[in-house]
Amino acid sequence: MQLYNTLSAEERARLIDEAGKERLTLSFYAYAKIENPKKFRDELFIAWNALDALGRIYVAHEGINAQMSVPAENFEVFKETLEAYDFMKGIRLNVAVEQDNHSFLKLTIKVRNKIVADGLNDETFDVTNKGIHLKAQEFNDLLANPDTIVVDFRNHYESEVGHFEGAITPDVENFRESLPIINEQLQDFKEDKNLLMYCTGGIRCEKASAYFKHQGFKNVYQLEGGIIEYARQVKEEGVESKFVGKNFVFDHRLGERITDDIIAQCHQCGKPCDNHTNCANDACHLLFIQCDECKAIMENTCSTECHEIIHLPQEEQVARRKGLQVGNKVFRKGKSEALKFKNSGDLSTQTLAKAKPETKDIRQKIKVKKVLIGKGEHYYSKSKIGQFLIENKELSVGDKVLISGPTTGEQEFTIKEIFANGISSESAKVGDQITFEIPFRVRLSDKLYKILED
Ligand SMILES: [Zn+2]
Ligand SMILES: [Zn+2]
Repeated sequence: MQLYNTLSAEERARLIDEAGKERLTLSFYAYAKIENPKKFRDELFIAWNALDALGRIYVAHEGINAQMSVPAENFEVFKETLEAYDFMKGIRLNVAVEQDNHSFLKLTIKVRNKIVADGLNDETFDVTNKGIHLKAQEFNDLLANPDTIVVDFRNHYESEVGHFEGAITPDVENFRESLPIINEQLQDFKEDKNLLMYCTGGIRCEKASAYFKHQGFKNVYQLEGGIIEYARQVKEEGVESKFVGKNFVFDHRLGERITDDIIAQCHQCGKPCDNHTNCANDACHLLFIQCDECKAIMENTCSTECHEIIHLPQEEQVARRKGLQVGNKVFRKGKSEALKFKNSGDLSTQTLAKAKPETKDIRQKIKVKKVLIGKGEHYYSKSKIGQFLIENKELSVGDKVLISGPTTGEQEFTIKEIFANGISSESAKVGDQITFEIPFRVRLSDKLYKILED
């Protein structure tokens, strides 16, 4: 019985594209007593792997916390796999507002000590004595009350791109740090203020609200289902959004736009921007905000040092990484002195710019007819020339193409000139090694598609 992933992210992305089926990005969690987390984990893996469900899931004696991507056509069957467990009957699934078929490319289910690293000793307080759950409109109403203090229980990189008006946004790198900081800061308000809290999907507040009640706060409230569910109610029930900007999420999208306000800056040039990325240097992987211009100039790296490193031969990069543990982490969530425009701590909701309307709606994106032509082999960054191998059909000058990959994303442009096997040509056929100018960096194994006009 296969109990672990066998496909690479690239292979999975290709299979998803070829299947051309719509997927749903969703999340859910449940606190419950689980006797045998390892057995529970294996059961879930077998059931979900069969449904082509992907995601990052943590299970522990205290419950389950899941972020997933599920084929839309398997959604009902997927729900049944949850309902098979008593504690997940009627569970609310937070379905993302913006969809992306590549939000998760692996099914990873891990057994952990806790489903959220909160650093709390659950034996010392009543974890079931939680704050009152609020729906979006109720949350807005309480937010408008002058006796309310609203606290963002997420981390600096999350609140930087979007948060509620007037929220306290602790300058922390993890949830564990924020609990004592807030407790200390709000010492004098335990009796007579409303403590209103929120996080991404609600799970952090389940525990935090119980902790603060135990600390003596009298009026504790939490946003039910977090910002994800709030955004859904804003969209579907016409509730006014008091959340400004983007909701950061930990999948390949790195954020879901709630309002078109951009409240953050490119960490390198200061221009209004709220697109997170991770440094292309495998030994760094720092999570930071970078605009398209800086991305092109810096080739997706966070510093001149990292920029130099990615141009070293692969063997030397590997040798330099020896002993460093960051290489296999997806993101490093720290800060860097090199980033001049990084903001944290006291954040405003002042709009620096408006986001352009998103044209790449996933439903439209799927409808684009395209055919896989070949794969990326090399990118000559000085001359901005990409090299591809044609494996299917042919490619001609004037063709519109789409280049797609986990780091590259999806980029479209029109071919103006082709060199096939080193010779300037009108078109290229299967087996040809082609090069052409391309304004962004392409990676090994990026897919080259020809877009078919209809
Ligand atoms: Zn910039
Ligand atoms: Zn870096």
